[in-house]
Amino acid sequence: MRDRVSFGKCSLKGNLRSMTERLLSRAHAVLPGGVNSPVRAWRAVGLEPRPLVRGRGAIVFDTEGREYVDLVCAFGPLIAGHAHPDVVRAVEEAARRGLGFGALNPTEVDLAERIVASVPSVERLRLVTSGTEATMTAIRLARAATGRERIIKFAGCYHGHHDAMLVRAGSGAATFGVPDSAGVPEALSQLTTVVEFNDVDAMTTSLRDDPAPAAIILEPVPANMGVVPPCAGFLADVMERAREAGALVIFDEVITGFRLGRGGAQGLEGLKPDLTCLGKIVGGGLSVAAVGGRADLLDQLAPLGPVYQAGTLAGNPVACAAGLATLALLDPPAYQRLEAFGARLEAGIEDLLRARGERACVQRRGSMLTLFFGAEGVRNFSEAKACDTARFARFFQGMVAHGVLLPASQFEAWFVSLAHGDREIERVLAAVEAALAA
Ligand SMILES: *Cc1c(COP(=O)(O)O)cnc(C)c1O
Repeated sequence: MRDRVSFGKCSLKGNLRSMTERLLSRAHAVLPGGVNSPVRAWRAVGLEPRPLVRGRGAIVFDTEGREYVDLVCAFGPLIAGHAHPDVVRAVEEAARRGLGFGALNPTEVDLAERIVASVPSVERLRLVTSGTEATMTAIRLARAATGRERIIKFAGCYHGHHDAMLVRAGSGAATFGVPDSAGVPEALSQLTTVVEFNDVDAMTTSLRDDPAPAAIILEPVPANMGVVPPCAGFLADVMERAREAGALVIFDEVITGFRLGRGGAQGLEGLKPDLTCLGKIVGGGLSVAAVGGRADLLDQLAPLGPVYQAGTLAGNPVACAAGLATLALLDPPAYQRLEAFGARLEAGIEDLLRARGERACVQRRGSMLTLFFGAEGVRNFSEAKACDTARFARFFQGMVAHGVLLPASQFEAWFVSLAHGDREIERVLAAVEAALAA
């Protein structure tokens, strides 16, 4: 306890390095790899992670009081930046009313209505506590509704860490070379077929294969192998071919939901998938996610229907308050601002790459982007995996040294928030220039 108190308070004086080292060694003693989620360990970039103690807007502070421009943003949820006053106030007010009831509460209904009003394909939804649960439930619903078992996914897309989806998965699974996790029963992974993203022919063939598929699941703009936008017409092709095959379409918009616009990627493309998974931003930094879609499908869930799903903390009022306060900030000017910032960052980095003749490219959608080293364009997981991860690791080290935090993997998206402004652009571009030169 004493350690913890002194930690926050004397971050600018005293025996600092040893304090961070002590925390890391305590973490390693009780947490596998010293972390509660693998990419946080920074192993792929050859550094010890820097524990963070505080965040404000676009800036985070580590245990030694050093500050960084944050392009991780908690891996996506913090589109309003760290500790946005409206979000913090909403959380405080909700907490004073009670931390949870295990009963229907008004805040979860408010959030559900807000989501239904924003995402046209979502007629009903169930709130859950993680994106993993959302995709797990979506798949169970699709299997129940179609009476089929096979699921088609795309290589490099990440849909959480439940068994059916840890087959050629992106994000940390790709970073650590375990896209096919140990401990997943062979019989289960055989029910998941994997095809390359942006490959219409492979997708069409797989949909026609036996046994007939229950569903095809995808990130409409994959961000877990780095940002890999769909080719023109690809998403519409997925919808059409799936329909022909009698398979449901599940859009996993855990990252893209409310990030690319209020209606997510599907809103921008004018598409209506059967089921949609949301997470990250809808919880504003706390544990909220959702599975939503056609009313007839969602009404298959208990207590109305035969598909079981439940959650002690589902619809937690404090978490839902954080989500609601975050969504309230996302008006059309907010998205214009995010787009403008993202575009300036992309252009600035590309200028620096060109000036150095560096073989690398920036791929971006709105406020999420990835700088791929050793590639001129990345359209799928094979091309992502061919990138120069050693070069990325050196670049990452340079960025940290110059006060910018990125996700510690080539296969992740950088996120910008509404709190990022002119000062942050300048600091990030100065760091990129220095890190490229190092
Ligand atoms: C983060 C993520 C998930 C998993 O969400 P968790 O809350 O980490 O379980 C699922 N799908 C996508 C696209 C994600 O980015």
